[in-house]
Order: sequence, then C-alpha cells, then structure tokens
Amino acid sequence: MVRHANSVTMLPDAPDYPLRLTIDSAALVANWSALDRLSGSAAAAAAVKSDAYGLGARRVVPLLRDAGCQTFYVAHWAEAAELLDLVPAGHLAALHGPLDARDAAFAKASGVKPVINSPHQARLWLDAGGGACDLMVDTGMNRIGISMGELGDPLIAGLEIDTLHSHLASADAQSPLNEVQRGRWLDARGQVPHRRAALANSAGIALGADYHGDITRPGLALYGGVPAAGLAEHIRQVAIPQARLIQRRSLQAGDTVGYNATFTAQGPLEIGVVSLGYADGYLRCWSGLGAMHADGAALPVLGRVSMDMTAIDLTAAPHLGEGDWVSAEYSLPEAAAISGMSQYELLTSLGRRFQR
Ligand SMILES: *Cc1c(COP(=O)(O)O)cnc(C)c1O
Repeated sequence: MVRHANSVTMLPDAPDYPLRLTIDSAALVANWSALDRLSGSAAAAAAVKSDAYGLGARRVVPLLRDAGCQTFYVAHWAEAAELLDLVPAGHLAALHGPLDARDAAFAKASGVKPVINSPHQARLWLDAGGGACDLMVDTGMNRIGISMGELGDPLIAGLEIDTLHSHLASADAQSPLNEVQRGRWLDARGQVPHRRAALANSAGIALGADYHGDITRPGLALYGGVPAAGLAEHIRQVAIPQARLIQRRSLQAGDTVGYNATFTAQGPLEIGVVSLGYADGYLRCWSGLGAMHADGAALPVLGRVSMDMTAIDLTAAPHLGEGDWVSAEYSLPEAAAISGMSQYELLTSLGRRFQR
C-alpha cells in the first residue's frame, strides 16, 4: 500500500513501469557453460560489475553460482557489499582495489578479496591485516595495475597472492599487442609467487589455451555479447528490452512523426507509440534505424526517439493495441553494427525504469 503525504488514505500498490528487461536465464547459464568449456582446463569466473552489465547482479549471480561458477568480479566495494549474501567469502573480488583504509577494512571484515593495483594499495591492505588477495599487473594497457617495474617492490613481496591477473587491451582484435601482453604476463608470473593466474576476458577466451591460465574472466559474452567471431556460434542472446504501447494512431499521406518531423508518411499508415525512450537507454541512434517486434512481426522505428517514447510502424502487426507489449530488436552484435554503439554500451545504458 502507498500512503499520500497529506492524508491517511491508503492506495493500492503503485503500478509497475511499462518497461521490462526480460532475462533468458537458460541462455545466461548456457553462455557461462560454453565459456567455461572453451576455457579448457581453466575455470570461467564471471565479471558482474556495473550490476552485471545492467542485467541485475542479484539475479545473475545465483544463476551462475548454481551452474558452477566459483568466482565473481565487481569493480567497486559498494557493488561487492550488495552481493555478500550470495557468494561465499573469498569468491568475490573487487577489481579496483582499496582506495583508502576504509575500503581495506571492509575487505578484511567481509572476506571480499581486494585486487591490488599499486604499492599504495598493497600498503593499505597490509596495514588492514592483509591475507589472501589478488594482484593486477599492467602489461601494456596502461589502465590500472602494478607496472612490471614495480613487481620487485618489497610491499608486493609481502602479499599473499591468490590470483595474478593481467588484462588485454585488444583481445577483440588480431593485434600484436596480445602476444606482447601475454609475454609480459608470463614474465610477471615468473617473478611473483601466486596460486593461480588469469589474463582472458570474453574475447581473450577465443585467443586459445595460451591465454587461459587457471581462471578466465568473461563478462560481455555471458550476457549475449559476441566480441570475437569465434564465440558467435556459442553465445545466445540473454537480455530483451520490452515496453508497452501507450497509443495507436492512423496517419495520412504527408503526416509527420516526432520531433523535427524527420519521418513523413507516404500513404495511410497505422503507427504505435511505445513507452521506451532515450531516458531508458534506448538512445537517439535508433531514430529511423531500430525496430521492435511482436509475434514475429518486425515493427520499424519511425522518426526520432523521444525521452520516454518511440513511434513504430504497426503495418506488420495490425492487431496490436494500447497496453500491448513489444520487444526491441537487441541482439547485441547486430544492434552494435546498426547503431554504432559498442555491445557494452548497449547493455550498460539500459535505465532504471526497466523492471529486471
Ligand atoms: C570488465 C572486465 C572483464 C570482462 O571483460 P569482457 O570484455 O566484458 O568479457 C575482465 N577482466 C577485467 C579486469 C575487467 O575489468
């Protein structure tokens, strides 16, 4: 029940948003299993940062955990805190490492493994009491991670390293940088004692056994992204954005649609207005380019995407009425090719109004 601020009248529960992000749990689990198999003798973990790339980490983590996934990576401590009850201690790691003593104390108390990225972070962790941690070594991306030259630092020697990580800059391309980074990763493995080693993200898994180490860290491909051609046959779409029709209308030749009148009807046309817009992450790149579908019929986007609404052509589904649901065409590799957005952006930009 909902209560008005200025009265004691009790209202029915607030209606749901007319937007939902449907998650195909079986496809998610199948993708993880395929990536685990493709990782050979290495075990596939799961990158679940940014709320599992927008799909909802509290939903995704138990599904993957029950499928056999043992290790989960988030970026931030605040993300780790939201998953503590779902993952056994020591099986969740925070990639950004501790930024201050409070982060380090949280890591120590919660059992979330810090991924140490600098001597300063090593000091914070040791000062908090230390224990098992991971180490990220920068091998050429120059993002985060300890540099090769710092591997001999006494603070690093004081760490109890579970997994020694590095991260590939160009795993999704045939780049000579992949071999350069792999060589440095092997070099780092020879210098610093560790239990396990990891290098590959989703695309890195497709580079073959030399890149697998003991544990792989797929993210995007779990959620239906295909960052390397070799993965296409193994990966299924997981997330489908859906929204309801707010209105139908009948246009005549010469009528225009939406802001700046970028679409003009050539003849009589039935259109629908869907409760999905750029505020939901259905960005203006889909204006005149995207499509929705219902019951197998393709319904092209007409004119500009608005903040909360998008117009579609209902010719192929004349029976649809106000309140009915439609699905956006959102198969990630194709959607990226059409829109010019990356597959990562397509997922992580989907907004808060979707019921997940
Ligand atoms: C996000 C991330 C991953 C997952 O990468 P994908 O390309 O989504 O598979 C792996 N490793 C690290 C260090 C990451 O930050």
